[in-house]
Amino acid sequence: MKKHNFSAGPCILPQEVLEKASEAVLNFNDDDLSLIEISHRSKSFVEVMEKARSLALELLGLENKGYKAVFLQGGASLEFLMVAYNLLHKKAAYLNTGTWANNAIKEAKAFGEVLEVGSSKDKDFNYIPKGYTVPEDADYFHCTSNNTIVGTQMKAFPETNVSLVCDMSSDIFSRQLDFEKFDLIYAGAQKNMGPAGTTLVIIKEEILGKVERQIPTMLDYQVHIAKESMANTPSVFAVYVSMLTMQWLKDLGGIKFIEEVNNKKAALLYTEIDRNSLFTGIVAKEDRSTMNATFTLTDASLKETFDVMWSTAGISGLNGHRSVGGYRASMYNALPLYSVQVLVDIMQELEAKK
Ligand SMILES: *Cc1c(COP(=O)(O)O)cnc(C)c1O
Repeated sequence: MKKHNFSAGPCILPQEVLEKASEAVLNFNDDDLSLIEISHRSKSFVEVMEKARSLALELLGLENKGYKAVFLQGGASLEFLMVAYNLLHKKAAYLNTGTWANNAIKEAKAFGEVLEVGSSKDKDFNYIPKGYTVPEDADYFHCTSNNTIVGTQMKAFPETNVSLVCDMSSDIFSRQLDFEKFDLIYAGAQKNMGPAGTTLVIIKEEILGKVERQIPTMLDYQVHIAKESMANTPSVFAVYVSMLTMQWLKDLGGIKFIEEVNNKKAALLYTEIDRNSLFTGIVAKEDRSTMNATFTLTDASLKETFDVMWSTAGISGLNGHRSVGGYRASMYNALPLYSVQVLVDIMQELEAKK
């Protein structure tokens, strides 16, 4: 039987998507060829790419609003660099909410002045900074909507005229937001959309072409848009599986539907963390992520017992990030509510044993 997969990334994917993907590896579209051995310029694959790009915009409600979607390589980590390369003239504002935000800041510093407008470093990033101001003359404001590692999530975004750029790697398609507020959104596929190997970037086209520096071909968003995400051979398998996952989400009822499920899963687990005296949450309550819930045991001597209990129950991927410790339950879109119930039952069993 399939395990209850709480992995932070690469993440759980819907079973029906895995089945369709494995069929396509053997025989794609009944063409008697594998998806991964046909030309990316073939009609069959061009249709996949087109579908993936249009589904991304459709799910976010960004069709016909001046946005383009592209699937790139190099992970979300390359976007840290590309964002600054393509958008930073003089000065950019960044919110430092943890490791990923920090990596983005590091890359941007090579291109201009980087203002850290807020940081939660003082408390190991266990909260989201608030009350910061974004200077009106910044070229853009960059933030990370969900800190995958520590388990915080931005519930609000600043009201500003400055371009909003957001790394949504670990909560893309998980909740409804006013996506039109953002000029650029990027997300590595492997957290909530598909397998590793591709990164979705959604860009409001009008913000491009304004920096004076020369941009290397493969780092230039305008090139990728003009070439319709085929500037070079794309990650065909990763794009295909992402497309299937987006189609799965659309058929279920889109972000509106999945947000309700995600809220139920998060409420079930956080309620138990707060109720059960053997556990304690790691981050500020108001900033808790619906995607990655982090917690520790109040009595460290129970670790071995608890670890055996959950792994015996078929739970996988529950260990916290090596930099944080404790536990991290990642509850991405494809994780069923039932899996969270199994975890909560184990937490209650541990309490009953004590
Ligand atoms: C995992 C992650 C990244 C890094 O993604 P790669 O695709 O491995 O480069 C960046 N940002 C966030 C929020 C992440 O969770």
